[in-house]
Amino acid sequence: MNQKHKERMLTGDRVTGKLHLGHYVGSLQNRVMLQGKYDSYILLADVQALTTHFDRPDSIREHLREVALDYLAVGIDPNQATLFLQSMVPEIAELTVFFSMFVTVNSLRHNPTIKSESKGSSLDELYYGFLGYPVSQAADITFCKASIVPVGDDQLPHLELARKVVRRFNELYRPVFPEPQALISETPRLVGTDGNAKMSKSLGNAIELDITPEQLSYKIRRAVTDPARIRKHDPGHPEVCPIYAYHKVFEPSGAPEIHEACERGSIGCTECKHRLVASLNTLLEPMRERRSRYAGNPRVIDEILMEGTRRAREIARETLSEVREAMGLDYF
Ligand code: ATP
Ligand code: MG
Repeated sequence: MNQKHKERMLTGDRVTGKLHLGHYVGSLQNRVMLQGKYDSYILLADVQALTTHFDRPDSIREHLREVALDYLAVGIDPNQATLFLQSMVPEIAELTVFFSMFVTVNSLRHNPTIKSESKGSSLDELYYGFLGYPVSQAADITFCKASIVPVGDDQLPHLELARKVVRRFNELYRPVFPEPQALISETPRLVGTDGNAKMSKSLGNAIELDITPEQLSYKIRRAVTDPARIRKHDPGHPEVCPIYAYHKVFEPSGAPEIHEACERGSIGCTECKHRLVASLNTLLEPMRERRSRYAGNPRVIDEILMEGTRRAREIARETLSEVREAMGLDYF
């Protein structure tokens, strides 16, 4: 089917560091699977990265091509998906301003993801841009009229806000936007190697997609396991062990056996970790191959991003002219 007649899918990642297995199972895998079914847009969220990194713009610049390379390595096809830079589509910023007129501060301060990311700071201490990033995210989704958004479950409150914004805009002015739906994967939140509920770039508990086999063995060796298990034959509690959580996600067919052997104390943590490393290498190997094909050719990556940004901007201009018309701001 022609791209024009397909529904749109949009999602993206903050350009704050390399992508990791949490991104892969939470969102990237669905993007790859659905890139042929939907007209797909993938945003490199450099503006949203500034909400926490405004004093380190160099680090955003540094990570930009790495994130793009991660996309290509997992199998995102630039001929099917449009990869683009958020800051280079200024219409998104314009739409954010319009939306921000009818979003209350109260709805943002009670957003559970904002609360957990602001780590106990009071409202008075929060930056305006940080508090408002869910509004900007609503603009990211709507500028291309996306109807589906593959994300991890920390994004659900933001999707709820985006849906409210769309409903409000459509009733205040004219129906311009479809209501976006979150697409939550089978693993909406992958645990970190330190046992934290979320593997995250900013928590230092991530297994990056570009990890070498040696680094992988090292990271898994150091990852926490069931703290109650001291000796090899102590009966384990797989449900509290991140290594078991990874087995369930990355080698589900072998997981019941691991579960049983761990509980019985017949498999030690070292052996269990070895098996995990082998399964992860099987997953990562094709990514390493694709990555090495692009890595030697940074010019190709720049061209993909430039072409994607050009396409995104074209759509953004069309949508914004509809928005201005709907709001009666098309004066001349
Ligand atoms: P940061 O710590 O800088 O916010 P992050 O690791 O949270 O980085 P984001 O760029 O904020 O990554 O998230 C991009 C997408 O990946 C979102 O859809 C998010 O829900 C998903 N995601 C991130 N980490 C995980 C995880 N551990 N499990 C499942 N999905 C995840
Ligand atoms: Mg995040």
